[in-house]
Amino acid sequence: MILKDILPIFNKHEVSFKEKYKEVGDIYTFIFETEKQITWKAGQHGIFTINHEKINKPTRAFSIASIPSEGHIKISLKISEDPSEFKQALLNLDSGMKVTMRGPIGSFYTKNSKPRLYIAAGIGITPYRALIKNLLLNSAEITDDKLFYLDGREAFIYTEELEEASRISSIKTKYLVKREKLNSEIEEFVAKHNNEAEYFIVGAKTMVHTIETLLKSKGIKKMNIIKDTFVGY
Ligand SMILES: Cc1cc2nc3c(=O)[nH]c(=O)nc-3n(C[C@H](O)[C@H](O)[C@H](O)COP(=O)(O)OP(=O)(O)OC[C@H]3O[C@@H](n4cnc5c(N)ncnc54)[C@H](O)[C@@H]3O)c2cc1C
Repeated sequence: MILKDILPIFNKHEVSFKEKYKEVGDIYTFIFETEKQITWKAGQHGIFTINHEKINKPTRAFSIASIPSEGHIKISLKISEDPSEFKQALLNLDSGMKVTMRGPIGSFYTKNSKPRLYIAAGIGITPYRALIKNLLLNSAEITDDKLFYLDGREAFIYTEELEEASRISSIKTKYLVKREKLNSEIEEFVAKHNNEAEYFIVGAKTMVHTIETLLKSKGIKKMNIIKDTFVGY
């Protein structure tokens, strides 16, 4: 990560819990408001710390799924029936209660207008909501972008936003359930664009590693692969 993408780690914001709702299955979205207006690059993540309860390991990273002009911080996460203390504490938040967010930080954002393949595994869809919303504001930066969204449980979220993007731009989403289908779709995109495109990957560690290995085996250079690994799953 380059220095300018990591330095905002020293910026500390108190963000105020506004609301939460269930997206689908065990995926929940939380909305926070900020006192002062803050800005970030679409695709970056915040480092969130719980203060309202005393818990072990009170800090977690979450991608910010909203863009600054929406005026709030949106995060979506998987919360199982037996969640960690951290996620239970999030569920216990009442309106107006505060958590600390450091950042936003990270290099997971678009930097040019090459064709792009966005690969999301499960909850790894979160930063793409922001990336795509932001690109729709600057549509000159969109060339031949595709989103391949894999979820074996078909727990797809943000479908409204993704369908809207498909309608008004050339960013098309393919919802995929099987890994084999994802691989064949990736191979097709690689055959068309090769190293003239950029390849974004988000998901749990093993998934990101497997997809990166596939891309490299097809000749895609490391410099054209941009990853966001959701450590913790
Ligand atoms: C840059 C970055 C961005 C991220 N963005 C997101 C995001 O947008 N959305 C998101 O959901 N996550 C994101 N993550 C991952 C997130 O930070 C957490 O690590 C992840 O959600 C797991 O949370 P958790 O540890 O609270 O555990 P849980 O989700 O509750 O559990 C994770 C696993 O640990 C097991 N487990 C939990 N507690 C215990 C326990 N006490 N004993 C034994 N096993 C247990 C669970 O069964 C499960 O398999 C991101 C991570 C990074 C690094």
